[in-house]
Amino acid sequence: AWFDMVDLFQALRGMFKPMLVNPEVVLVFEEPDGLPRLYADNQKLSQILRNFISNALKFTARGEVRVSARAEDGVVRFSVADTGIGIAPEFHAAVFDDYSQVNSPVQKRLRGTGLGLALSRQLAGLLGGAVSLESALGEGSIFSVTVPLHFPSEN
Ligand code: ATP
Ligand code: MG
Repeated sequence: AWFDMVDLFQALRGMFKPMLVNPEVVLVFEEPDGLPRLYADNQKLSQILRNFISNALKFTARGEVRVSARAEDGVVRFSVADTGIGIAPEFHAAVFDDYSQVNSPVQKRLRGTGLGLALSRQLAGLLGGAVSLESALGEGSIFSVTVPLHFPSEN
């Protein structure tokens, strides 16, 4: 269905409010100004962003988790950037696989089932988009999902 990024961000903000228990971490939603309305399955997109945001909050002891959306060439890119512990390059290719987890003490202690990112990659595929990761150890991570900007086919 068609939806508005402002509404999506507002819903996510409300959902995560009760989970912001660490006063040293702020969750920021950038105003997605001037973005077109998007035709996509917003349940799937919301699920992906919830996975990214919950991971970011889990692995960030201080600083911020910043959620943004911007139009790029034919896609809208949603990003969740954190100032957390980061992910070493050797794990970048694997974090989106089933049950894959990073082999560091903090990440081992805080791990869940290890399916959130695998599910996110699958959902992104169903939306015709893709997930990606940029991260440096000790500096934080940016998880992104792109969703194609297209008009619904007539059927
Ligand atoms: P689940 O999401 O199923 O509860 P999980 O959070 O452990 O479990 P994923 O969300 O798939 O699993 O993430 C896989 C692993 O990638 C995590 O266990 C963690 O090691 C690493 N990871 C994910 N997001 C981040 C992040 N923002 N910063 C640092 N490490 C991360
Ligand atoms: Mg997770």
